[in-house]
Amino acid sequence: MLEADFVIIGSGSAGSAMAYRLSEDGKHSVIVIEFGGSDIGPLIQMPSALSIPLNMSLYDWGFASEPEPHLGGRVLATPRGKVIGGSSSINGMVYVRGHARDFDHWAEEGAAGWGFADVLPYFKRMEDSDGGEDGWRGKSGPLHVQRGSRRNPLYGAFVEAGRQAGFELTDDYNGSKQEGFGPMEQTISGGRRWSAASAYLKPALKRKNVSLVKGFARRVIIENQRAVGVEIEAHKQIQVVKARREVIVAASSINSPKILMLSGIGPAEHLRENGITVVADRPGVGRNLQDHMELYIQQESLLPITLNSVLNPFSKALIGAQWLFFKTGLGATNHFEAAAFVRSRAGVDYPDIQYHFIPAAVRYDGKAAAKSHGFQAHVGPMRSKSRGSVTLRSPDPKSQPVIRFNYMSHPDDWTEFRHCIRLTREIFGQSAFDPYRGKEISPGSQVQSDDDLDIFIRDHAESAYHPCGTCKMGRADDMMSVVDPECRVIGVEGLRVADSSIFPRVTNGNLNAPSIMTGEKASDHILGRTPLAPSNQEPWINPRWQASDR
Ligand SMILES: Cc1cc2nc3c(=O)[nH]c(=O)nc-3n(C[C@H](O)[C@H](O)[C@H](O)COP(=O)(O)OP(=O)(O)OC[C@H]3O[C@@H](n4cnc5c(N)ncnc54)[C@H](O)[C@@H]3O)c2cc1C
Repeated sequence: MLEADFVIIGSGSAGSAMAYRLSEDGKHSVIVIEFGGSDIGPLIQMPSALSIPLNMSLYDWGFASEPEPHLGGRVLATPRGKVIGGSSSINGMVYVRGHARDFDHWAEEGAAGWGFADVLPYFKRMEDSDGGEDGWRGKSGPLHVQRGSRRNPLYGAFVEAGRQAGFELTDDYNGSKQEGFGPMEQTISGGRRWSAASAYLKPALKRKNVSLVKGFARRVIIENQRAVGVEIEAHKQIQVVKARREVIVAASSINSPKILMLSGIGPAEHLRENGITVVADRPGVGRNLQDHMELYIQQESLLPITLNSVLNPFSKALIGAQWLFFKTGLGATNHFEAAAFVRSRAGVDYPDIQYHFIPAAVRYDGKAAAKSHGFQAHVGPMRSKSRGSVTLRSPDPKSQPVIRFNYMSHPDDWTEFRHCIRLTREIFGQSAFDPYRGKEISPGSQVQSDDDLDIFIRDHAESAYHPCGTCKMGRADDMMSVVDPECRVIGVEGLRVADSSIFPRVTNGNLNAPSIMTGEKASDHILGRTPLAPSNQEPWINPRWQASDR
C-alpha cells in the first residue's frame, strides 16, 4: 500500500525542499511522486553542458507555446525539467533571490506573510553561500551558492563599462543592494550542478520516512471536498497513493494548474467543456501566466579570448575530460559570471532590467554559435504586464496543455525592449570595451529605428524560461486566488500547491531561488509551525530613483 502523511507531486525546486523539511523531525512520512528519472551523468552534472538536457525528451517535458500572435506566430519552447530536481536539474544554475520589493508586492497583492521581511529568513535558512554580504546571506543551509572565477577579462570589462556609464556597482545582488553591475552567483558546488535534488531530495531520501515513487500523477483524488490521495500511472498501471494528512502539488507552473484542473479545480466552464466534474470553481487556475523574455545582444571580439574558440568538438572533449577527472576548468561553470540589475528610467524605484553576460556569442540552446569571436549580453525587462494562460487541451492527463503566453501583448513591452537594446549598445560602447569591441553581430548596427528594432524583437525575443503565476497565492476572498497565504487550495481541504505557480507576480531575476524559498516556507505552514521571525534588515533603494535611471 502506497500511503504517507504527506504526498508531494513533483521533486523539483519546491518539491525537493518540502520533502527535506517535512521529514526533518522524523515525525511524518513523506512520499514524493516524480515522473522523471535519474540525474546521474555529465549532461546534467557538468555545469557547462547546460544547453543539452533542456533539448532532450529524457529530461524535459517538451512543452511549447501556441503560436504567439505578437511574435509573428512563433512557437516558443517551454522547457520544464522531467527528472529528479525538476527544472533545477536542467536550468542555467544562475542564483538570484529577487528584489525585496517583489516580495513586498506579493504581500500587498494579498499574499500576507510573504513580504521581504518574512521571506528573507527563509532565503537565509536555505543557503550555504560562499561569499556575499555579511549578515545578509545564509551560511549553513543545504543549497550551495558560489561565484564563478571571472578569469576571462571580459567579465571585468562588462562591470567596468556599467560603472563608466554611470550605473551602480554591487558586490552582492543577493544582499542588501540588488541594483548595479557585479559578479553573478551560481548553484554549483565542487564543480557540479547543485540542483534541488542534490541539496534536498537526495539527503531526504536517506531518511527512513521519505520515499520516492516513480510515476505519472494523473489527478488528485478528492472525496467530500478533501484530498485523500493521488492517482498515478506507474509500471503501466493506475495506482493510488494515499495521503493521511495532505497532498501537496509542486509540479511546476505548467503541470500544477493542469493537475488541479484534471482534479476538478479550476474555471467551472472550462472543466465542464472537458467533461470534468467541478469540485471547486476557481477561475484563477491556469490564469496569470507570466514569464521573462530576453534578447541576446552580440558583439564581435577583436581579441581571440572568448569561449568561441572552445566550441569545437576537440576542445569540448578536452574540457569534458578535465571535468570528468578533476571537476575543474571550463566545464565547471555555467559561464554566467557577471550580471547587472538596472532601472529603465527615472521614477522606477527598483531594477526592472536584468543582464546576464557571457564571454561568447552563442544561443542559449547552444545551437547557433556565431562564427567569429564574440561576447554577449542577455537582456530583458523584468516586469512585463502581459499575461497568458495554461488550459487543458483535453481531459486526457497525457495530453499537453495549451500554453498561451501572449508575449509582448502589452504596448509597454515594446518600449521596454527597445530601451534594453539601446542601453546595451551604450554599455558595450564604453571605453572598457575598447580593446575588445568589434562590430555588432546582433541585432547589427543597421538596426536602429523603432520599426527595425521591433522587427528584431518580434523575430528574436526568447523566453528566459521563467513561467510562473498560474495558481496565484492571495486573499481567500479574491476570486482569482487559487491558494491562500498558507498555500492551501481555496475550497478544498487537505490540498496545497507550493511551487513557482503560486507566485502572484514574477520576481526580478531567475526563479529557482524563489521556488525553493516557496518550498521552504510552505513546509512551515504545512507543519503548523510559527513562521521564522521577520527580519528588520532594510534593502538599499537608489536615493536618485526619482530623478535618474542610474
Ligand atoms: C532551461 C531552463 C533554464 C533555467 N535557468 C534558470 C537559472 O539559470 N536560474 C534560475 O534561478 N532559474 C532558472 N530556470 C527556472 C527555474 O529552474 C524554475 O523556475 C524552477 O526550477 C521551478 O521550480 P518548480 O518547483 O516550480 O518546478 P520544477 O522544478 O519544474 O518541478 C516540477 C517537478 O514536478 C514533476 N512533475 C510534473 N508533473 C508531474 C506529474 N504529472 N507526475 C509526476 N511528476 C510530475 C516534474 O517532473 C518536476 O520534477 C530555468 C528553467 C529552465 C527550464
